[in-house]
Amino acid sequence: MRILIVEDEPGIFNFLKQGLEEESYAVDIADEGNKGLQLALSGEYDLLLLDWMLPGVSGIEICRLFRKEYKETPVIFLTAKDTVDETIFGLQSGANDYIKKPFHFEELLERIKVQLRPKSGEHSIFKLGNITLNTATHQVFKSEEEISLTQKEFALLEYLMRNKGIVCRRTRIIESVWDIHFEYNTGVIDVYINALRKKLKLSEDENYIQTVRGVGYVAKEI
Ligand code: CA
Repeated sequence: MRILIVEDEPGIFNFLKQGLEEESYAVDIADEGNKGLQLALSGEYDLLLLDWMLPGVSGIEICRLFRKEYKETPVIFLTAKDTVDETIFGLQSGANDYIKKPFHFEELLERIKVQLRPKSGEHSIFKLGNITLNTATHQVFKSEEEISLTQKEFALLEYLMRNKGIVCRRTRIIESVWDIHFEYNTGVIDVYINALRKKLKLSEDENYIQTVRGVGYVAKEI
């Protein structure tokens, strides 16, 4: 899951980036409105966190323009504007939620999870052979044994399991799991895939994460 933060205060965006990355989200920062709008409209994000008062285009304007293109992607305002009128105005511009500064990170995190919560019909638990991944508790089990993964390993496995049966191209994996500053050396995916296979102790007849030569990887029941 990849989140865009549009916020001009370094103290806030650095804190948020670190906290969200520890939760396995890939996070990009735009520290002014024009860059924020440009990145938002790239369509690479699962959620937007928008400050309201920004140099360049305002958060409200970004939200409005973004909504014209992307109807479903959640947007959360993070702002010091806190009158009832301002809150209503913010929500009317198309935001899904509105959090007033100063905020508690734990609360923000829960609100992000609510927005990214699986829609009805989707699940927070994904299965692949004898492997179970729970996005709500952030745990991975192989049969009964809990497997400890790094944030990136978890995010990578989640991405593959969400797309079970679908061949995932390297570039798509990179876009979803790593942030914008990541160098496009897709060879690093191989390193992470090998680490995952090792930690999951996949035997030959548990070849759940298969290499598709020249393309990428696919998570497959066998
Ligand atoms: Ca601001």
